Amino acid sequence: MMIGSRRTILGGLGAGLTLAGIGAQGARSAAQRKIGYAIVGLGSYATRQIMPNFKNCDHARLVALVSGTPAKLRQYGAEYGIPATHHYSYADYDRMRDNSDIDVVYVVLPNAMHAEYSIRAAQAGKHVMCEKPMAVSAAECEAMIAASRKAGKLLMIGYRSRFEPYNRLAIDLARRGHVGPTRIITSEHGFPIQPNQWRLDRPLSGGGSMMDIGIYSLNATRYLTGEEPVEVSAIESTDRADPRFKTVEDRISFLLRFPSGVEATCVSSYSSAHNAYRVVGTEGWIDMEPATSYSGQTMRIRKDGDVTPRTISEPAKNQFAGQLDHMAECIMNGSKPIVPGEEGLADLRVIEAIYRSAAEHRTISLAT
Ligand code: NAD
Repeated sequence: MMIGSRRTILGGLGAGLTLAGIGAQGARSAAQRKIGYAIVGLGSYATRQIMPNFKNCDHARLVALVSGTPAKLRQYGAEYGIPATHHYSYADYDRMRDNSDIDVVYVVLPNAMHAEYSIRAAQAGKHVMCEKPMAVSAAECEAMIAASRKAGKLLMIGYRSRFEPYNRLAIDLARRGHVGPTRIITSEHGFPIQPNQWRLDRPLSGGGSMMDIGIYSLNATRYLTGEEPVEVSAIESTDRADPRFKTVEDRISFLLRFPSGVEATCVSSYSSAHNAYRVVGTEGWIDMEPATSYSGQTMRIRKDGDVTPRTISEPAKNQFAGQLDHMAECIMNGSKPIVPGEEGLADLRVIEAIYRSAAEHRTISLAT
């Protein structure tokens, strides 16, 4: 089925979000060329998913690299045609201020480094794209938002599923009540984690499965409802004798209550594989499995007693290119991203409540 042109969808979601801090002159001059990105941290996600997708972008291009490893700068510089003048170490990071080819600094570092490098990028006068989780605390998220606002620059979080066509369709169907008003959402994300990596080192990760993969369960419930949870209850199960889980949690299951009455049951796990959600309405359900993977999203809908697969025939830009182009278009148009810093902050506020609920064995109210 057709879900409309991407421009229409983005326009609809972004409508009315004009950002006062982006001057019309800046927007006009940026519109004359592709928006230049510097990638910070040449690890797995940056080099395997993000960098190869600039070639699929209409408005974004890779112009600079930041790494602490000179060999990586040479290797990827050669592969992507980035000259040594546009290579940076962490020590000379702030010199990006003087490089007018760089419009956006995309932070793809371990979680605990997101806040510092995002804030320094904003202070260097750059727009910031930052990977999820936005930071390791709500307080850090607030500081990042304040820094970008002070600089008059955009801040966007790498919630790629918001640019993935099946997730966009699920949002539309769920919020329009295609299977009746939503009553229950189940959302499950997890994978058996390999030992010896920064994700298992709390000072770098800020937490365990919840920070890394459970955040997809949480974020999906928020985008499928378009609401913020008002109550959370969580339990944690971690085998502390397992050397992987010396400092971070393994499994957390959590329940969320939303203002409209929707209840969500969510799984976050570092010891079992999950990637699915189901939106259950009064007249059926919308099922996605896999739901938030890099590719292969599969949707089924139960309605009027029948279960049918739902496919999207329109060839679409993939979620990675869609995400990179969205930020570029926001800069060119002077509009605010659909996943700004406030979106990352909202997740971190709930994550903090999930951890508190699990630790204190009680339900936490999030109502303001
Ligand atoms: P990775 O370990 O593969 O890469 C991390 C990079 O940071 C490496 O290049 C490493 O050299 C560099 N680094 C700099 N200082 C470091 C330090 N003190 N300790 C460890 N590494 C240091 O990790 P990754 O999988 O690329 O994840 C990076 C970020 O991207 C994380 O925040 C993660 O949550 C996020 N991510 C997002 C997605 C997604 O689908 N949106 C997928 C994977 C990762």
